[in-house]
Amino acid sequence: MDGQICFCGRVGKINCSWTTSNPGRRFVGCERYGKAGACGYFMWVDAPMCDRARVVIPGLLRSIGRLEAQVRREKKIKMYLVVALITSWVLWTCVFALVM
Ligand SMILES: [Zn+2]
Repeated sequence: MDGQICFCGRVGKINCSWTTSNPGRRFVGCERYGKAGACGYFMWVDAPMCDRARVVIPGLLRSIGRLEAQVRREKKIKMYLVVALITSWVLWTCVFALVM
C-alpha cells in the first residue's frame, strides 16, 4: 500500500481513521487531503473491522482518554505539592534562623 500514486500524481499518504465506525483503520489518501486541490483519492489499507471491534476499540480509546486526563491532573497536584514542600522548608529555615 505504501507508495501508491493518487490521481494528482503525488505519493499517497497512509493515515489512520479515528471515527467510531472505523477506529484505528488505516487508509491511503491524497497527500493534499483536506486542502485545496486535493484529488479525493482514497483507499482502505486494512480490512473492515468486525462489529465487536467497532464497539470495543472506541470504549478503550475513551478509557485511555480518561486515564490520560487523570495523569495530567495528578501531575499538576504533584507540582503544587512540591512547591508547597519547598516553601515550607524555606519558611522553617527562616524561622530557625530567627530563633537561633
Ligand atoms: Zn492527489
